Amino acid sequence: MEVTAVTSELFTSNYIDQPFWWDRTPRPESNHQALPGEADVAIIGSGYTGLCAAIQTARGGRQTVVLDAEAAGWGCSSRNGGQVSTSLKPSYEGLKKKYGGELAFNILKEGHNALQWIGEFIKDEEIDCDFKRCGRFHAAHTPKHYTLLEETFASPVKGLETDSYMVSRQDQHKELSSDLYHGGIVHPRHASLDPARYHQGLLGRAVQAGADIQPHCKVNAISHTQSGFQLDTQKGTLVARDVVIATSGYTKTLSRWHQRRIIPIGSYMIATEPVPDDLIRSLIPNDRVISDTRKLVVYYRTCPERRRILFGARTSIKETDARVNAPAIHKELVKRFPELDEFCVSHSWMGFVGYTFDTMPHLGKRDGIYYSMGYCGSGISLASYFGTRIGQQVLGLAEGRSPLDLTTFQSRPYYTGNPWFLAPAIRYYSWLDNRPA
Ligand SMILES: Cc1cc2nc3c(=O)[nH]c(=O)nc-3n(C[C@H](O)[C@H](O)[C@H](O)COP(=O)(O)OP(=O)(O)OC[C@H]3O[C@@H](n4cnc5c(N)ncnc54)[C@H](O)[C@@H]3O)c2cc1C
Repeated sequence: MEVTAVTSELFTSNYIDQPFWWDRTPRPESNHQALPGEADVAIIGSGYTGLCAAIQTARGGRQTVVLDAEAAGWGCSSRNGGQVSTSLKPSYEGLKKKYGGELAFNILKEGHNALQWIGEFIKDEEIDCDFKRCGRFHAAHTPKHYTLLEETFASPVKGLETDSYMVSRQDQHKELSSDLYHGGIVHPRHASLDPARYHQGLLGRAVQAGADIQPHCKVNAISHTQSGFQLDTQKGTLVARDVVIATSGYTKTLSRWHQRRIIPIGSYMIATEPVPDDLIRSLIPNDRVISDTRKLVVYYRTCPERRRILFGARTSIKETDARVNAPAIHKELVKRFPELDEFCVSHSWMGFVGYTFDTMPHLGKRDGIYYSMGYCGSGISLASYFGTRIGQQVLGLAEGRSPLDLTTFQSRPYYTGNPWFLAPAIRYYSWLDNRPA
């Protein structure tokens, strides 16, 4: 758990503290166009949520401006692990207690819909982003977790069955060359992609549709006018009839109501230097994306060319610098693959995932302002899917509705956006994860 001191031997000579993905897809050129004074729709945040909403509104004939405080896609959408899943975290039983059986089913079905939808969307839009239905191996880190996975797998909710299958500890080397685990489950429909290339593709589609992208244009305040909203931005004032907030883990004081509902949690990644082909093939033979059942989530995969391992985890008690944290992440990697001990780190980076108190994303309209956020670390499919839905809601289209519209976006007393409870929670989860099986 401790963040180890930075040891230069761990890093390659060309080490860089930025996402590996940015080597393959350099950050987009800045747009030097002036900010227009008016728009039909102003979208704040240019990640998957903002761009998918913009594709809808611009194609629907609305003059759309997308504003981002940084370069386009600078947030999670160009720095994630590229693992695409069914994504919704709550259990059916938990949701049923809160919302009744029918809504619980419909909410979870949205996760399945999003996973199916994103593959079709990428194909229909011809986005070249290394999308591959590679499947996931979700490994059990204790025998008890294997039994729990098996029990859940044996009694799926009717209508939410999948083609997943269990893999015993004896057989797990067919999926993963690691002795750390006690078997696991394969989800064949989960996928991988290059997140920055995917973002670049969305950006291209949004621009083609006529959206005006305004990077380095932080929105400082939103106020109501008689016919809509006024946005005070770094580049001047923009008046818009509709506003969408798509800032997820980077939501700050711009909207205090949303800030009180989003828990920003840093997730940290490293890329290794190139690893020989035969070693890569022996470590992850089927090119799956990998995660495990620990409370403090670990996720890893190879890069699309199958030359490096990309490994993500949360190891530090407090938010820290990605370079300072890299040795601790590397240590987690070596626990799984001792063969990689001698392979250096070429990139390390982090980003702020937007968590929510009920571990579900939320979308809808509040005080006249549309929003979609809080994908709890599984936003590739969900941010794209719900970004599309919220864009359709702006257009007044029935297909924009989602069962998640019927859920409550809760805060907690005294929470104002600073997750003071994170350090004790991480200590507790770490204790749970490291308890003897
Ligand atoms: C390290 C890491 C690994 C992850 N791995 C996975 C994974 O493997 N699979 C998966 O499904 N999900 C993963 N995620 C989560 C996923 O990337 C996110 O859920 C998703 O990208 C969220 O997209 P978004 O468009 O809602 O937000 P973001 O992409 O975070 O975009 C928000 C944008 O809002 C902008 N912004 C904020 N405030 C303002 C303002 N006032 N004015 C203008 N702009 C503003 C920010 O600059 C930012 O660019 C990961 C996240 C991280 C950080």
